[in-house]
Amino acid sequence: MDYQAVIEEVAAHARPYAGQGQVADYIPALERVSADRFGIAVADIDGKVYGAGDWEVPFSVQSISKTFSLALVMAQGHSSHSGDDEIWRRVGREPSGTPFNSLVQLEAENGIPRNPFINAGALVVTDRLLTLTGDASTALLHFLREESGNPDLAFDQAVADSEADHGDRNAALAHFMASFGNLENPVPSVIEHYFWQCSIEMSCRDLAVAGGFLARHGLRADGSRLLEAREAKRINAVMLTCGTYDAAGEFAYRVGLPAKSGVGGGIVAVVPGRCTLCVWSPGLDARGNSVAGAAALDHFTTLTGWSVF
Ligand code: GLU
Repeated sequence: MDYQAVIEEVAAHARPYAGQGQVADYIPALERVSADRFGIAVADIDGKVYGAGDWEVPFSVQSISKTFSLALVMAQGHSSHSGDDEIWRRVGREPSGTPFNSLVQLEAENGIPRNPFINAGALVVTDRLLTLTGDASTALLHFLREESGNPDLAFDQAVADSEADHGDRNAALAHFMASFGNLENPVPSVIEHYFWQCSIEMSCRDLAVAGGFLARHGLRADGSRLLEAREAKRINAVMLTCGTYDAAGEFAYRVGLPAKSGVGGGIVAVVPGRCTLCVWSPGLDARGNSVAGAAALDHFTTLTGWSVF
């Protein structure tokens, strides 16, 4: 497969979509990014990386961080001997059919979020990571630096502060779950670490490389094992069914790959056994997924025939 030729063709196809949609404006710090950026990177399972467009420009990973915090909780679960079962007692793995920051299901379902990729579920994962590491956001940042091979990755303080300033809904979700006994740490620490984790800045290159273990069935770039193959499969499965907000069905239909999107306009997608991709363009559709990013992934699987279906 000539990856470079494929992604250049994908970029040419998707670029006209860059600028369509709305840049996330729920916090001022995200609103400042120009909508017509577009980047794509592919990291194959041997660690070779190919890129086109703005593939080396850092952006706010936002909800893409939820994939990596889940992986880290599963990996840490090995060393604490609690395995990954512990987390699945506290968070489900079904699509929610409600917006990512919705409160309504939580009451009917006793404070157990539907899946780890809606905000409530991600807060539970961050809470678990806080218990396991003592410092969830720093542990995640170090993990991402190692996996991406980029020691310069950092939090964006302005984004983290802005999240906190507009954090009432996430605080409400966390308090609600705490009232059901589904948080182990105090709400202020859990949401603080969650805001920091969302604020990490990474490029398409960084994210494609860092997500390599999902294509390598749990193996890191150096060949050591981060996750059991079945755990990597589980993360990919939850990405496919729950990773693209309330449009996972549409995404499976159009793209057919496990993927996790964020309101910063990035989407990480996995072709198990072959490669990990990341696309970025800040204009979002009504569901919160990057318009040009989705068009790019759609075209990628059309050209390669590499959907999981
Ligand atoms: N920091 C955002 C929030 O919690 C995440 C948004 C997203 O990418 O879905 O509201």
